[in-house]
Amino acid sequence: MKTTPDRYAGPGLPVLRRVRVAGVPVDPVSMAEAVALVDRAAVGGRPFCVLVTNANKAWQAAGDPALAAALESADLAVAEWAMAWAARRLGIQGVHHVGGITLMARLLDVAEARGRSVYLLGAGPDVVDELASKLARERPSLRLVGWHHGYLDDEDWESVVAEIAGLRPELVFVAMGSPLQERRITELATRLPTLRVAMGVGGSFDVLAGRKKDAPRWARGRGLEWLYRLAQDPARLWRRYLVTNSWFVGRVLRDRLRP
Ligand code: UDP
Repeated sequence: MKTTPDRYAGPGLPVLRRVRVAGVPVDPVSMAEAVALVDRAAVGGRPFCVLVTNANKAWQAAGDPALAAALESADLAVAEWAMAWAARRLGIQGVHHVGGITLMARLLDVAEARGRSVYLLGAGPDVVDELASKLARERPSLRLVGWHHGYLDDEDWESVVAEIAGLRPELVFVAMGSPLQERRITELATRLPTLRVAMGVGGSFDVLAGRKKDAPRWARGRGLEWLYRLAQDPARLWRRYLVTNSWFVGRVLRDRLRP
């Protein structure tokens, strides 16, 4: 297991002891610590990128150097269930499951409580519009300053970058799927020094807008989210899960045997 130097995040915040699981970086934090770190980063100073790692992303990163580099450069890389499971198998302590959808929902709670501004980028036009209306209804004090769908040509992308630069939201959630969202987040952080927090949230807008069901709590707690998603969309997902999950388990078992 390779580690990177510890990173001090600030007073009252956990020291990040980054580890590697299945070739990708992971910060061993609890949900509460992840929320505290992001909350602190939203105050500003420099762009802070939050990415989520899971078995599928580790598999993608193994064949996609740009995605691997984006994960390396994340300021906070939280682990979903498979990574926490693998960390335990590898004898690495403290890697907890921090689900992307739940983390986004917690960050919206904090944003609402603290009056932080939020921008949503990603998903289809009707999905992101629906999510924006739902948030306005259900969280009337949330400062949702803008949103845009995630199907962008170069010109659209430039106008979204300009819009975010002008609005200066404290939290930008990017839901475009991997590796596109990681590429977009890296570009935002490079081009906009005033960017505060940008987080990659995959298919979360579809779930939070109510278009897709989130896995029930029993499945989430046991790492069976993927089985639930597979049952909802077998034609699209069976190959992905078969290939990525077998690769992932094989990789973890191999790493376990290495000195
Ligand atoms: N998406 C997007 N722009 C694209 C491709 C996808 O905004 O060019 C959105 C898509 O509509 C969906 C999300 O990205 O809302 C990805 O969902 P998926 O479940 O595939 O992502 P995962 O969480 O598996 O990475």
